[in-house]
Amino acid sequence: MRLILLGPPGAGKGTQAQHLVAKYGIVQLSTGDMLRAAVKAATPLGRKVEGIMASGALCPDDVVVGIVEERISEPDASKGFILDGFPRTVPQAQALDHMLAKHGIALDAVIELRVDEAALVRRIESRIAEMQKRGEPLRPDDNPDILHRRLVAYREQTAPLIAYYSDHGTLHSIDGMAPIAEVSTSIEKALAAVEEGPEVGAAAAPQSAPQRVAKSVAKAVQPSARKTALPRAKRG
Ligand code: ADP
Repeated sequence: MRLILLGPPGAGKGTQAQHLVAKYGIVQLSTGDMLRAAVKAATPLGRKVEGIMASGALCPDDVVVGIVEERISEPDASKGFILDGFPRTVPQAQALDHMLAKHGIALDAVIELRVDEAALVRRIESRIAEMQKRGEPLRPDDNPDILHRRLVAYREQTAPLIAYYSDHGTLHSIDGMAPIAEVSTSIEKALAAVEEGPEVGAAAAPQSAPQRVAKSVAKAVQPSARKTALPRAKRG
């Protein structure tokens, strides 16, 4: 299973990715985590992106594409992966298409977690306040002003990917404002439809990339504006 989780900061991508890792035995590839590790280790790449990340802006496409390409070539990613936080721009999505074709692999689904932005801001701000109260360390980009910039970056640079993957027939939109377990169930249902395999009649043929894409057109669209009280979730 090869998936993309798409959604703004705080939509619950990290929480759902962990659930999918456990269920499908695939690896979670979070570009945010990879970049933070590079910053922590003070590698040349880390030094290059540290200020950009702290400002809430996106890192250059070539930097991020490079680390993803390296990572998906590693043996543990051969059974499948969840891309969390990548792609985040249309050029990144195009680069991903190119690298997957080069490796002879295809995406099974893109899962969009749809969220209400005002509720999202409240959710993240209260999470930050709780962490501060408990004396837990915050990320340098964990403050209301920077959060606003991260959301603007999402709206302007990442949201166009919804149309990109919708056009490619791989998009499944899930209501990310529902309780965590309900979101997981909706994702599982969407993926079960993808896993059913080729239509009767096409069953004998090996599944090519276009067939997999065509098969995953079924969408699990749910209303996005439900304002359900949420248990505290892992970030992302
Ligand atoms: P969030 O929790 O806001 O969803 P992440 O942990 O995924 O954020 O990423 C944190 C920061 O890392 C981003 O604000 C950005 O600076 C950088 N980053 C992560 N992934 C990418 C990407 N695919 N392209 C560009 N920058 C990225």
